[in-house]
Amino acid sequence: MRYKIVAGNWKMNKTLEEGKELANAISHNLSGKIPSDQKVVLCPPFVHLLAIKEIINPVDNVFIGAQNCYSKTSGAYTGEVSAPMLQSAGIDYVIIGHSERRGYFNETNAELGEKVKMALAHDLTPIFCCGESLEIRENGTHFDYVKQQLQESIFSLTGEDFSQLVIAYEPIWAIGTGKTASTQQAQEMHQRIRNDLEVQFGKDLAGDCTILYGGSCNPGNAQELFACPDVDGGLIGGASLKADDFVAIVNSY
Ligand code: PEP
Repeated sequence: MRYKIVAGNWKMNKTLEEGKELANAISHNLSGKIPSDQKVVLCPPFVHLLAIKEIINPVDNVFIGAQNCYSKTSGAYTGEVSAPMLQSAGIDYVIIGHSERRGYFNETNAELGEKVKMALAHDLTPIFCCGESLEIRENGTHFDYVKQQLQESIFSLTGEDFSQLVIAYEPIWAIGTGKTASTQQAQEMHQRIRNDLEVQFGKDLAGDCTILYGGSCNPGNAQELFACPDVDGGLIGGASLKADDFVAIVNSY
């Protein structure tokens, strides 16, 4: 089902106390104000998940998400966190394939496909990230590049599994740079993604897929980005660390 979603990716920021303060401020401001076709997801670091989940629990339509999970269920993988562990902790969403994971930790399309399947098998909603670098955008191959990311990671899903997935288009050149994609660039890519999904999964499933935009989204540009017909909300990095900014973005619909 297609929802409007604003998800906050806190990345490796905030101590536990700071995170609780932020979650309390967001909950306080959003309590009773999120319509039923809209969802808000907070994605703090792993060690904060349970504490933040408890804070947001009473607020309707606010959910908790992790920033990553491993592609195996258990075993000798020091430092990793598995999808069944997240499931057992009552986590709702998991970001998979963020460009920082792809870049700093060499996560490949094939491995990310495994993570998506693992998440889905454990009732987690994956927020699958895709997006091109500046170099790829400038050489004009960005549509093919993003299509290949989707092809190699999610095209082998069954329709039923695909229907549970959220996609986030995040051009790397716009992440944390203050340089946002124009509404035209965002809409154009989102439409291409939806078309590619339609060829693979059919019109109904592609039409029902939630596709978020991410990359320097802020209270000043969220409204026009979210107004694009194929943009269903945002994955927010920097601006999710300030309660007022994040709440203003949520209220941009
Ligand atoms: C992100 O990291 O997912 C992101 C969109 O970051 P920022 O909003 O800071 O560009």
